[in-house]
Amino acid sequence: MKRTRIAEILSSDKVGAKYTVMGWVRTRRDSKGGFSFIEVNDGSCLSGLQIIADEKLSNYKVEVLKLQTGCSIKAVGTLAGSPGKGQKVELQAEEIEVFGWADPAVYPLQKKHHSFEFLRTIAHLRPRTNTFSAVARVRNAMCRAIHNFFQDRGFIYLHTPIITGSDCEGAGEMFKVTTFDLDNIPRKDGHIDFVRDFFGDPANLTVSGQLEAEIYALAMGDVYTFGPTFRAEDSNTSRHLAEFWMVEPEMAFCDLEGDVSLAVEFLKYIFAYVLENCTEDMEFFNRFIDSSVIETLENQISQDFENLTYTEGIEILSKAKEKFQFPIKWGVDLQSEHERYLCEKVFKKPIILVDYPKEIKSFYMKLNEDGNTVRAMDVLVPKIGEIIGGSQREDDYDILVERIKEMNLNPDDYWWYLELRKFGSTPHAGFGLGFERLIQFVTGLSNIRDVIPFPRTPGNVSF
Ligand code: ATP
Ligand code: MN
Repeated sequence: MKRTRIAEILSSDKVGAKYTVMGWVRTRRDSKGGFSFIEVNDGSCLSGLQIIADEKLSNYKVEVLKLQTGCSIKAVGTLAGSPGKGQKVELQAEEIEVFGWADPAVYPLQKKHHSFEFLRTIAHLRPRTNTFSAVARVRNAMCRAIHNFFQDRGFIYLHTPIITGSDCEGAGEMFKVTTFDLDNIPRKDGHIDFVRDFFGDPANLTVSGQLEAEIYALAMGDVYTFGPTFRAEDSNTSRHLAEFWMVEPEMAFCDLEGDVSLAVEFLKYIFAYVLENCTEDMEFFNRFIDSSVIETLENQISQDFENLTYTEGIEILSKAKEKFQFPIKWGVDLQSEHERYLCEKVFKKPIILVDYPKEIKSFYMKLNEDGNTVRAMDVLVPKIGEIIGGSQREDDYDILVERIKEMNLNPDDYWWYLELRKFGSTPHAGFGLGFERLIQFVTGLSNIRDVIPFPRTPGNVSF
């Protein structure tokens, strides 16, 4: 079934050319002059193509006049300049074939406003709306931009495992992977007998590919992963998913400063790519979702991000007049209210916080000379808060063993991770970027459930 995508027809604008278009009807209007206007969308771009169906078509009365929102059709015709408002060209149909009907009495998507909450309950149909098709296209473009960015800089794309025996964060909330019969779990001496499970050991879904990425960074130099990660944290927020995608570059011969500059360069690259390549969809978001979204992205590209230490951040927050739900003192983990206050009220731009207290960060982050803080960095953006978390990694064998013990972890579980510090250890650094949070920032969509096709959140695994 050969067809031309509407995006291509509209961008090449070849009046007089003959095309076959296939897509879904958005609207049909009948003119008294004996013809109908059918707007068809095929997902290739936000705009639909206007099709003129003349009453002389053999199936005009029996089919064309019955077309409704959601029907799938094929239209063969010639492109002509359009006298009407709203479009430059239209297709004058010589043939219209109906593939599938959509009964308006029961088809849930009608030409009216539907709430995002309602659309989440029909995730099988929501990509047929303007908002969700625009999100899907922008998400796709951002994937391409991510690979372009790293590939252009010589990074190796690495696939780290989804099923893992190691818990990267040390205390992450993980989903268990097992083939045990849950009604009859083998036990030995009062404990679950994992020896008899599929892997012979407890296994989980990964919370991060970082530890394995370090292995390859310490052989290949610069690598990145881009894949799904899973967190069983029961946080029902607009920024957390149980399954989300993470971009994790890891670089050998790199310190925290290098890590920060890569993160900034990366974000600016993605923003510029989207503004340049998703113009129509971005104008849509700017008009219907968040009227500051294009300007915000343009500002990020042209301005510097604010750099400050955790300690400086705490000083600003403790002097703030704002009443926070979570009190502030040196040593506490920053909550989203604090992160947003710094970005939105104080600096009015993205900020990069570095040098966090070691107690609130992971064991693998490099200890500063003060012995209290680690070489961590978080990138915080307005409206969302943390979008990137990264660090220079501890590359000293003895200090790392100490840190593992301090965090009440068992060094034996990290034997291969420790060996990387024994054999050819080098300074290295990396970060993890939450892909969906980045899409939220780019599109202005306030709920993370609306920037991933099929959100997994506590209590919801439909579709
Ligand atoms: P937060 O404090 O916001 O829960 P985190 O500190 O647990 O995040 P990291 O472990 O640093 O997150 O993960 C790196 C990045 O992954 C975060 O900066 C964020 O963008 C993203 N991220 C983390 N958890 C989630 C989640 N549950 N859903 C979506 N994105 C997430
Ligand atoms: Mn973090």
